[in-house]
Amino acid sequence: MRRFRLILLSVVAATLAACAELPSPDTSPATLPPATEFAGIVARLAPVVQDTCESTGIARNCKIRLYVAQTEEGEVNAFQSVDGFGRPFVIVTPQLLDAAQSPDEVALVLAHEAAHHILGHLSRQQEDAVFGATLLGAAAEADGATREQIREARKIGAFVGARTFSQEYELEADALGALMVRDAGYDALKGAQFFYRIPDPGQHALNTHPSNAQRRAVVQRALRNGQRPAT
Ligand SMILES: [Zn+2]
Repeated sequence: MRRFRLILLSVVAATLAACAELPSPDTSPATLPPATEFAGIVARLAPVVQDTCESTGIARNCKIRLYVAQTEEGEVNAFQSVDGFGRPFVIVTPQLLDAAQSPDEVALVLAHEAAHHILGHLSRQQEDAVFGATLLGAAAEADGATREQIREARKIGAFVGARTFSQEYELEADALGALMVRDAGYDALKGAQFFYRIPDPGQHALNTHPSNAQRRAVVQRALRNGQRPAT
């Protein structure tokens, strides 16, 4: 089982970077964009997000709410999920708004997160986790592992499995996010400037995020091709 533990440690190290996470800015946070600016971005982006979601036809609920977290503490971050009633939402922290240098950057982050929901990445990731757990659990069992070892192998398999396609999902979300940002009247290339300032996770296969250069290239390609995901 030592081999499994080593894998787990390297996976944990590789997944410390959450979606669009940045180090906290060390300047004072007095430059938060006014609330009306965020509301303005949401007003332009939300109808495009809903239309795209409905025409893509993957997500059941396309009323994706776009929020700013009501806290003055926390990191530069953005994420998407569904609440207890299955209603999708995207949250960005005030620190992310502070770190963004244009409305285009905020729009691209919001659109990227919404794209994860539109493309069904949460449930696809859960399926990948179940697949990984089954695969590694069966391998351990075939190796004559004890019950506890098999349980540990399944846990690790789920962890690795959930990350197997993470980079692919991130790039898909970048591409669709760029098109939605463009359709909402923002400049997605300008928005991608954000990728110059977030820490670059590099090319490690188990990183949840692709390199920032890859992300910028995907945004450029999406704008050039203008192709939305096949339904
Ligand atoms: Zn993401």
